[in-house]
Amino acid sequence: MKRKFNFSAGPSTLPLQVLEEIQREIVDYRGSGMSLIEASHRGAEYEAVHNECIEHVRTLLDVPANYKILLLGGGATLQFGMVPLNLLHYAPEGRAADYVISGAWAKKAHQDAAKLGATHIAYDGASSSYTTLPENISLSENPVYLHITSNETIGGIRWVDWPDTGAVPLVCDMSSDIMSRPLPIEKFGIIYAGAQKNLGPAGVTVVIIRDDIVQDSPSQLPAYLQYSVHAESNSLYNTPPVFSIFAMNLVLRWVKKQGGVAKMQELAEQKAELIYSAVQASNGFYTSPVDPKYRSLMNVVFQIADASLDTTFIEEATKHGMVGLKGHRSVGGLRASLYNAMPVSGAEALADFMRSFATRRR
Ligand SMILES: *Cc1c(COP(=O)(O)O)cnc(C)c1O
Repeated sequence: MKRKFNFSAGPSTLPLQVLEEIQREIVDYRGSGMSLIEASHRGAEYEAVHNECIEHVRTLLDVPANYKILLLGGGATLQFGMVPLNLLHYAPEGRAADYVISGAWAKKAHQDAAKLGATHIAYDGASSSYTTLPENISLSENPVYLHITSNETIGGIRWVDWPDTGAVPLVCDMSSDIMSRPLPIEKFGIIYAGAQKNLGPAGVTVVIIRDDIVQDSPSQLPAYLQYSVHAESNSLYNTPPVFSIFAMNLVLRWVKKQGGVAKMQELAEQKAELIYSAVQASNGFYTSPVDPKYRSLMNVVFQIADASLDTTFIEEATKHGMVGLKGHRSVGGLRASLYNAMPVSGAEALADFMRSFATRRR
């Protein structure tokens, strides 16, 4: 097989080594005579994988002991609702949940919260078409939390420094850049991330949540929607997404073997720099719409000044084994997603192709 460089935003590329390990283990799990995805989720074999996966999250991100790590279903999208259900919906009258609207994903998170309680928009990037992030945000009086999106997968911007919220819990959707940089976990109340960008296949969502927030989750909620139910049962209240967790565990082992999140960050900077400098050096053939200060290392959004060349660019790139470069339908142009599993050679190949395309089509 000639493996393609897959620049898709999600689901997205996985380490080849992990795919091959899955292939080796999927039919006969370690000589057990059956697949792990056929085994009971209460059995010793699955339990070992489940706990190892949680432990990898803890050690790779250096998660303090007063935080729980949950593995849930429903994607990051379920967290758009679960966060306000647990923290806002039953909060006393007069308190709001604050949201930074930094792009498409933050907007969706806010829309769900607004159905469940009072919200306050602490910043809205609409006037810059969501190409930058705020230096200052204006919190409401006594908010129940502040929600931010660490990396806007569609717009291609990311938070570089985390806002200081004091005693107000900082809640962060990290779906598209978790495990790509070290994190000061103690600054956050809740971090959540769907797996299918940087952690593995779709189907599992990681939630890192501080103990006091878990303890406050309202018992009026249906069981699945209460954080405390999952925390008390080590994310085995119901059948977990066994295959996704099995695969995520292999991805996290791989991250560890590569040198952990500090190494992932170093590689992410290197890969993103290759593409941004190809844009920069093109004398305006390519442009980047985002504020350089907040440009994403995971999703490089760029445009060809002559947009009529987009289709040709994508067709030619495909012929060269590079796929998934079409920009999101809402912003157009092009986007190269450079998640952890994208090798540096993939970014080099794309940068080379961008230069040769510009030379030929200028
Ligand atoms: C992909 C993505 C989501 C949606 O995740 P699902 O797992 O599909 O629900 C939410 N937020 C961000 C930042 C994303 O990149």
